[in-house]
Amino acid sequence: MKKCARCGLVNENKAETCTSCGFTVFEEKPPHAGRTKPGPESAHSGVTAERHGAMVTLKCRTPAEACLIRENLESANVIALLPDDEEMALQYSQKGYVELEIPAAAYDSAGDLRSIVEFSAPPPPAPGIGTSGKLLAMLLAAVIVPGLLIFAWLLTSYRKHGEETKAKELKLWFLIGVGAWVLFILASLAFSL
Ligand SMILES: [Zn+2]
Repeated sequence: MKKCARCGLVNENKAETCTSCGFTVFEEKPPHAGRTKPGPESAHSGVTAERHGAMVTLKCRTPAEACLIRENLESANVIALLPDDEEMALQYSQKGYVELEIPAAAYDSAGDLRSIVEFSAPPPPAPGIGTSGKLLAMLLAAVIVPGLLIFAWLLTSYRKHGEETKAKELKLWFLIGVGAWVLFILASLAFSL
């Protein structure tokens, strides 16, 4: 017995074409007895994708898998280009996989597809804060540092001149200002979450 590489039907060993769909390629070894169709998980887990400019090529392990993925894509309104039966059979027998082409834009927007396809190349590193972000961070630190320095300088100069009331008020309102900033920062963080 041998299994059709496209529809999964088990045919007689002497059969040259599949009795169901007429396909000419059969899988070498039929999978576990009693399972004529691979489950969706096993059908999808080995697909890899490669980017070629505006197109993404999905390498499917069998013609059956390629057909299944194309059906899934078309139900999600994604146009998938699959070679015709003869070419697919040739590709499968020569390379051991079948190439399915889809537009890269469709690949990017189809969220489901990412879960069934793994990129053969590692994903690009996550973007950092960039030069402007780094400058902003330094600026933020700079705002706090001169603020503290000016406060400390004012406080010591008031104390030096014996102006205890001014020093007390400065300390109080500085603390109120710090408290307001902390509240403001906490509120901003809460909104950004
Ligand atoms: Zn068939």
